[in-house]
Amino acid sequence: MSVKPKVEPTKSAKKLRTLETLRGFRDILPDEQAAWDKIDDVARKLTQAYGFGRIRLPALEATSVFERSIGKDTDIVEKEMFTFVDQGGVKMTLRPEGTASVARAYIEHGMLNQPQPVKLWYLEPFFRHERPQAGRYRQFWQLGLEAMGSDDSVLDAQIILMAYNFCKDLGVETIVQINSLGTAAIRKSYTSDLAKYFKGHAKKLNETDLKRLQRNPLRLLDSKEAGMEELKAGAPQLIEYLDDETKQHFMKVLEYLDEAEVPYTLNPFLVRGLDYYTKTVFELVSTNPIGENGSQLALGGGGRYDGLIPLLGGREATGAVGAALGIERILLAMKTANAMPDSRRVADVFFCQLGEAARRKGLKIFEKLRQSDLNVAEAFAKGNLKAQLEIADKMQASIAIILGQKEVLDGTIIIRDMEAGAQEIVDVEKVVGIVAKRLQDNKKKQKE
Ligand code: ATP
Ligand code: MG
Repeated sequence: MSVKPKVEPTKSAKKLRTLETLRGFRDILPDEQAAWDKIDDVARKLTQAYGFGRIRLPALEATSVFERSIGKDTDIVEKEMFTFVDQGGVKMTLRPEGTASVARAYIEHGMLNQPQPVKLWYLEPFFRHERPQAGRYRQFWQLGLEAMGSDDSVLDAQIILMAYNFCKDLGVETIVQINSLGTAAIRKSYTSDLAKYFKGHAKKLNETDLKRLQRNPLRLLDSKEAGMEELKAGAPQLIEYLDDETKQHFMKVLEYLDEAEVPYTLNPFLVRGLDYYTKTVFELVSTNPIGENGSQLALGGGGRYDGLIPLLGGREATGAVGAALGIERILLAMKTANAMPDSRRVADVFFCQLGEAARRKGLKIFEKLRQSDLNVAEAFAKGNLKAQLEIADKMQASIAIILGQKEVLDGTIIIRDMEAGAQEIVDVEKVVGIVAKRLQDNKKKQKE
């Protein structure tokens, strides 16, 4: 069956005709890579220390994977998913988040039979059809951490600690907002009381909140509509509905956080937008606001999702907890905190060539240098020595290697100390060893 897409000429479609990126999508250019590399490095080190294995997820999943786990009456499923029917008639969705896919993978690959908890991490782009603004895109990256197969509160605390330290290691200070949603049963009875309370005040609710009241009353606690602060303050509080077991679980999470010195505040209105959460939920907020007009956007969030794996077809009750951190927002916070790494390319050794014969011979010599452990750079597209030495200087190279017409004929090469300006002529066959030695000497001198 072939599907003929019916495309309305939306703003994005118009933009496509002018060959620009789609609204909410962007290129990440070379200048930005140093910061992204640092994100990678910090993520890898952190997850390794805590024993998380990396998972790379497919970009597309059957739509039902998200509908069933995130919940039909949530912002994501209701209006933010990029969903389409493929040529074979299968309904699929560009992943809006990672937890549902990780839970799907846990079941699909029989990870229930491995030692528990199974700890997985991912660093990948996700897709949501939202109104783009600072810190909000249609394609954005998340670092995800998921620990599945245990309901121990130490895992809730560790996931929060890791999320907190990920930001901290990148130079971003955060505060954790935390709440407990209880079990599914507790939430149900609380939600029904909450609905009763707001029904009593229905006249004060606007259209959006009336819809929430009908479809997902818990989300009223998320509401930022005018007058809601006051109404919310008088509403029943979830914490009073928690049973002893859940309360104990939550208290322990808080104790562990105290012990680990993670700063947190209790937020009784924090419910998070997804249906699958149980017990602990949290968000990380930067101590410097990063949103438009100083508004506060969360850098990340997460929680416990004990019901999700059974819901997706897992055999047993499987406790699980996870977090997702928004990379673009963390980068914004890094900028605000002046914590962006230097993106200029630096090299220890710079290779210069003069004349056609040197350029030809130089290609191979440069390969030899590159395959050694030296940090080398080049500018083969330039012919002029002065221009090449200027680039070497900019890259803070301490040694330049110069190959000219004469050296090609003699089988030699010039080694120039960039600081002293001294030059020596050496056998081209021995250049790698000699340069390595000179670099070591220079480093020793610098230390003295
Ligand atoms: P928000 O309330 O800001 O819409 P959310 O609750 O929908 O966030 P989560 O699903 O918890 O977000 O995703 C975790 C993190 O991913 C967020 O805290 C944020 O940093 C990041 N994130 C979510 N949506 C976007 C987006 N459209 N663009 C950039 N980052 C995003
Ligand atoms: Mg959202």
